[in-house]
Amino acid sequence: MPLAIYNTLTRRKEPFETIEPGKVRMYVCGITAYNYFHVGNARAFIIFDVVRRYLMWLGYQVRFVQNFTDIDDKILNRAVQEGTTMQAIAERYIEAYFEDSDRLNILRADVYPRATHTIDGIKRLIHELEQQGFAYASEGDVYYAVRQFADYGKLSGRKLDEMQAGASGRVEVEDESEKKKDLFDFALWKAAKPGEPAWESPWGEGRPGWHIECSAMVRQELGDSIDIHAGGMDLQFPHHENEIAQSEAVTHKPLARFWMHNGFVNMDGEKMSKSLGNFRLTRDLLKEYDPMAFRLFILQAHYRKPIDFTAEGLEAAANGWQTIKEGLLFESEFGAQLGWTSGESVGTKIETAIAQFKTAMDDDFNTSGALAVLFDLAKDLKRERNLLVHEGTTSIAPAELQHHWHTLAELADVLGLKAELTAEETTPGGLSDAEIETLLEERQTARKAKNFAEADRIRNLLQEQGITLIDQAGGTRWHRG
Ligand SMILES: [Zn+2]
Repeated sequence: MPLAIYNTLTRRKEPFETIEPGKVRMYVCGITAYNYFHVGNARAFIIFDVVRRYLMWLGYQVRFVQNFTDIDDKILNRAVQEGTTMQAIAERYIEAYFEDSDRLNILRADVYPRATHTIDGIKRLIHELEQQGFAYASEGDVYYAVRQFADYGKLSGRKLDEMQAGASGRVEVEDESEKKKDLFDFALWKAAKPGEPAWESPWGEGRPGWHIECSAMVRQELGDSIDIHAGGMDLQFPHHENEIAQSEAVTHKPLARFWMHNGFVNMDGEKMSKSLGNFRLTRDLLKEYDPMAFRLFILQAHYRKPIDFTAEGLEAAANGWQTIKEGLLFESEFGAQLGWTSGESVGTKIETAIAQFKTAMDDDFNTSGALAVLFDLAKDLKRERNLLVHEGTTSIAPAELQHHWHTLAELADVLGLKAELTAEETTPGGLSDAEIETLLEERQTARKAKNFAEADRIRNLLQEQGITLIDQAGGTRWHRG
């Protein structure tokens, strides 16, 4: 069965087909750079990183774009609070974004467009909307006229008239209502306020609204129509609905074939929100938990369902990660001892595991089903590890066992789970080549005397210094790292 993806636009799972054979154009809405990103954002970034990795594993060439919103009221407020510039705030949190997402092993996007670098494209798009009767200027602002766009509401399934009935209290910006023709019209361009960064435009000095950025950046980096547009469920309305209205009014083409949205993160049973004060920043979380344990925690739930963030859940994920991590480190621990080669046979994989993994992932990215396959492989390796340590032998032939390990390593990589030796394990011990050779001779002597405990001790000692041993017929080779 081919890959099926739940499409928010059609509200059903559909077979995944790309506009251009073998190529995927994918856009994920990124951060507004005024703070460290929270665990809700992290969920989206991890999920869509897995989507991207899986498509790459299937053989697609994926062009992945994620933006930075570097102009926004929130950034401006923060700059005023701290007595600095909007640019300084944005730079700080963009840098922090890279630090935190690198720790989570999220692949870097092909391009990270920024709103302030896309001003020309934004102005061009607003101009086209105005020409075609979808936008109007009002006291230095420019608004999108939602009632001009017949399809407005098609993504979220909302109808303007129904929304209006219960709209009281939902209109956030009081001073805009005077300038708008309709309550649901939204700003494409905002007139400059004193002291704010501003750009020249046909409508006077000002700055772009939030929604128009993404429409302009998608168009600039990926073209009129893309394969996947993704983000958190909170972006479905109004942000993505507005993106569709802006882009499709001008291009008359679907902005995206597939719209993907991930579910919310709840904190101890309640929706995570700033007003409830139960907000967790990813950076703070990673002080307590291994980034891979957190990644595993996110992947244990289906991406469209809400996920309940609890200490117990994270502890369980940390235990699960330990099992997979040990499996992944099996090669560096025992590979040489088992005579594993890096030859052709390494390419052989456990076909049943691959097939199960693929079946799970093809079903709208059922990552918990995919993880079950990884756990099975990791448990095989754990059992063999115990046999090896206690009885000096394995029940699965070493070459076959290597296939288990290789399959685990490959599938873990598709989910972005990466085992790294801890800092102590990788710190260079300062052993000289001569010292290493001496230790190897001592180990050889111990082995000849069948003093395997001593031989293992030396081997472990070297391993702790980041030195890998490869036992061969003609003697032992070694390399650093
Ligand atoms: Zn966006």
